[in-house]
Amino acid sequence: MTTARVVGAAEDRDAWRQGAVVVTGSALIATRSARLAALGIAHGLTRRVPGLGLAEGNVGFGAPRDPVDAWQMRQSWCAAVGVDPDSLVAVRQTHGAGVVCATRADAGRGARPGSEPLAAADAIITAESGLTLITLHADCLPILLCDPDTPAVAAVHAGWRGTVGDVAGATVRAMEREFDSRPASLIAYVGPGIGACCYEVGPDVIEGWRNAAGPAAAIALRQVGPAWHFDGRRANRWLLERAGVARANIEVSDVCTRCHGQAWFSHRGQGAATGRFAAMISLGAM
Ligand SMILES: [Zn+2]
Repeated sequence: MTTARVVGAAEDRDAWRQGAVVVTGSALIATRSARLAALGIAHGLTRRVPGLGLAEGNVGFGAPRDPVDAWQMRQSWCAAVGVDPDSLVAVRQTHGAGVVCATRADAGRGARPGSEPLAAADAIITAESGLTLITLHADCLPILLCDPDTPAVAAVHAGWRGTVGDVAGATVRAMEREFDSRPASLIAYVGPGIGACCYEVGPDVIEGWRNAAGPAAAIALRQVGPAWHFDGRRANRWLLERAGVARANIEVSDVCTRCHGQAWFSHRGQGAATGRFAAMISLGAM
């Protein structure tokens, strides 16, 4: 087992401030949602840990990252979260709004280097145990969903393209369709991502969001001098609410991955070659 320096107290305070629970049962500390933890749902977000492995705890396999190191990191982080690394189910993320339904027969798809991910998609849903849904991030928002009644879970990767494509709403609708989930019963966690503070955007984002949200678009656009900044967390909360999720059931992190680049991988802050952190969720072992 790889051991890591424990991340600094200041970062832990950040995690507490956003309502997240810091898990210290392992050498690594995964960030968790207070709401999902209260439900007993196995889940967690990996982080950037300076000095850990070859690439500070990266779990992405894509070049220029070292897949063997990333697989070791996946195993370490899975131990911290309490899931089996060979139960991971990954997708080939496309910045779209595609949702794929996974079963326990898919466990391991995209888990290890060289293993083909389940499908090209940006959201994964399941109502089975024995598998762990994983999405990878570096500024793009992770969204975890849980239907405690069915039960069922989902992991979503929402960058700006996925946001304006309403991948969040598409995921809720897929859970309704596949599992008879009731949107009002869903618990949602919108995790750390690039904040409006650091996310100056161009006309493509603004136009895409205005088309998606219509008159409500202003809630996620902020004018800073001559520039426009996009608030992906407010946008995705609004999209989840539009799909029927109760606002009281949506927990939103206030951690900006660029502002807190020491603890999170940030595409804007560190460049395209930076690592990836993961969001994982599971209904448990078989
Ligand atoms: Zn920021």
